Amino acid sequence: MRDFSYLRATSADEARQAALQAGSVLLAGGTTLLDLAKCGVMEPETVIDITHLSGLGEITVDAGGATIGALAKMGEVADHAGIRAAFPAVSESLSLAASAQLRNMATIGGNLLQRTRCSYFREPDVFPACHKRNPGSGCSALGGVTRNHAVLGTSDACIASYPGDLAVALVAFDAVVELGGRTVSVDDFFLTPGNTPERETALQRGEMITAITVPASAAAKNSTYLKVRDRQSYEFAAASAAVGLEFEADGKTVRDIRVALGGVATKPWRARNVEQALVGKVLSPETVEAASRLAMEGAVSHGANHYKIELAPRVVARAILKVGGLA
Ligand code: FAD
Ligand code: SF4
Repeated sequence: MRDFSYLRATSADEARQAALQAGSVLLAGGTTLLDLAKCGVMEPETVIDITHLSGLGEITVDAGGATIGALAKMGEVADHAGIRAAFPAVSESLSLAASAQLRNMATIGGNLLQRTRCSYFREPDVFPACHKRNPGSGCSALGGVTRNHAVLGTSDACIASYPGDLAVALVAFDAVVELGGRTVSVDDFFLTPGNTPERETALQRGEMITAITVPASAAAKNSTYLKVRDRQSYEFAAASAAVGLEFEADGKTVRDIRVALGGVATKPWRARNVEQALVGKVLSPETVEAASRLAMEGAVSHGANHYKIELAPRVVARAILKVGGLA
C-alpha cells in the first residue's frame, strides 16, 4: 500500500471540491477502500474523510417513502423499524450482506460503490490484463475461472458481476441516488461495461452521494430478498432476487410486481420482462415458473458460470411464490 495524504473534510462542499483532484477518493466506512488499497487496485494520492459530516447519516420513513443518508450504516438501515415495515426487501438485502462487523462499519453510499469480486481484477500483480483496471490491457477472466462471473449485461471487454445486494432491492423499487446537485435513478446510476468497463457508474469526478430515496408502494411493502450462495453467511450471491408484489382486490390477480436480480449480471438487473409477463395474470406455480424463465433472456455463459442460467429463474420463482403466499 503506498503513502497517501489525508484530509478531514469539514463540509460536503469541501469534500466535493477536494474530490475534483485526480487521485482523490472519499472515505466512508473504508471497508472497500482499505481492501482495494491493500491489494493494489486503488492507490489514492489523497483520502478525503467524510465520516463525521453531519446530516448525511439520517434515515426517515413516511407515507411517501424513505430517505436514507449516504453515511447511514448498513446495520442501522437493516434494523430500522420503518424500513423493515415498508421495504422488507431492502432490510433483508442488508441483513444478508457481509458480516455483522462490516455492517456496523460500512455505509450505504460506499455499499453502492463497492467493486466487483472478479479475482483477476483484485490481483493486479498476478493478472495484469484487466480492461476494468487498465483499459485496453485485455480480460484475464475470459478463458479463466468464471464461476462467479455474470451472464447478463456482459460485453467482449468484461464479464464481471456486480456483487452488492442492496442495489438489487433498490433497483426493484425505483430508488433514486441523490448526488447533491442532481438525482439519478439507481437503474441509470449503474452502467453495463460495453467498451468502457472502467466506467461503472454515472458518478462524475467531484460528485458525492448524499442520500438514496425510495418511493413507497404496496409492492415494496410486500417484498422479499432471496439470496443463494455457496455458504449461508458471509458470502456474495451466486444468484439473488428482490421481488415485490401487489394483488388486485380479488387477492390473486397481479396488479403490480417488481423483480430484480443480483449475482448474475454486470449491474443490478431489473427483470421487466418477468414483470410484464405476470401483470394482470392470476398467480399460480405454472405462470410463475414460465415467467421466471424470461429473466435469462439474452443470457450468455462463459464455461463454469453456466449454472447461473439454471439457478437464477428458480431463485426468482421461489421469491415470487413466497411473496404471493404460494410457497
Ligand atoms: P468505503 O470503503 O468507504 O468506500 C467505497 C467506495 O465508495 C470508495 O471508492 C469511496 O471513495 C466511495 N464512496 C464512499 N462513500 C461515498 C459517497 N457518499 N459518495 C461518493 N463516493 C463514496 N457487500 C454486499 O452487498 N454483500 C456481501 O455479501 C458483502 N460481503 C462482503 C464481504 C467482505 C469480506 C467485504 C470486505 C465486503 C463485503 N461486502 C458485501 C461489501 C461491503 O458491503 C462494502 O465494502 C461496504 O458496503 C462499503 O461501504 P464503506 O462505507 O465501507 O465504503
Ligand atoms: Fe477485469 Fe472484467 Fe475481465 Fe474481470 S471480467 S478481468 S474485471 S475485464
